[in-house]
Amino acid sequence: MTTRPSRPAARRARRAAPNLEPTEGFRDGAAGRPDKSAYAMILAFAAALRSTCLSRKVGCVIVRDSQVIATGYNGTPSKTWHPEEFPKPCPCVGGISGADLAMKYCAHAEANALAQSAYRGASTSGADIFCTNLPCIECVKLLITAGIRAIYYVHGYPDVSGLRDRYLSQAGIPTHAIAWSKIQPHLSTLARG
Ligand SMILES: [Zn+2]
Ligand SMILES: [Zn+2]
Repeated sequence: MTTRPSRPAARRARRAAPNLEPTEGFRDGAAGRPDKSAYAMILAFAAALRSTCLSRKVGCVIVRDSQVIATGYNGTPSKTWHPEEFPKPCPCVGGISGADLAMKYCAHAEANALAQSAYRGASTSGADIFCTNLPCIECVKLLITAGIRAIYYVHGYPDVSGLRDRYLSQAGIPTHAIAWSKIQPHLSTLARG
């Protein structure tokens, strides 16, 4: 015959047990808790919202040991023009994505995140980068030399050079696509408050 646990003991057991049916929206929500890669990617999309580029909004975060060490978005260098002050329409708009970067006013998100890491003295060796878009060839060159271990992305980005895949495979850097459907439910959860 089993004996019923005392009431305080039952209460303690309930408190210790995981809450399998959370009722409060944003603590867990229908989407569940994002895994570490979805969490980092949500931060990358948040960074993209700060972009000053008039063409495409791109963001990224660099993660080492499960911590964000730098964020980046595309735009003009700090202390220089804002889009409304451009002397003429930025060649980013209407230009070919990933081509003629030297003619464009903006620096790319990934390059800016690496520059932030250098500015703050945070090593990128062995770190992962989470990008809203697959990095262009110019950023890939920098990411390889900066010791980035893996690239995660949601949206594609054209490669006008034809070199990007070759460089990544030669450098042994894998790319992992994350489906937008892994991100979007968490944003809906946030919207519910
Ligand atoms: Zn731009
Ligand atoms: Zn780039």
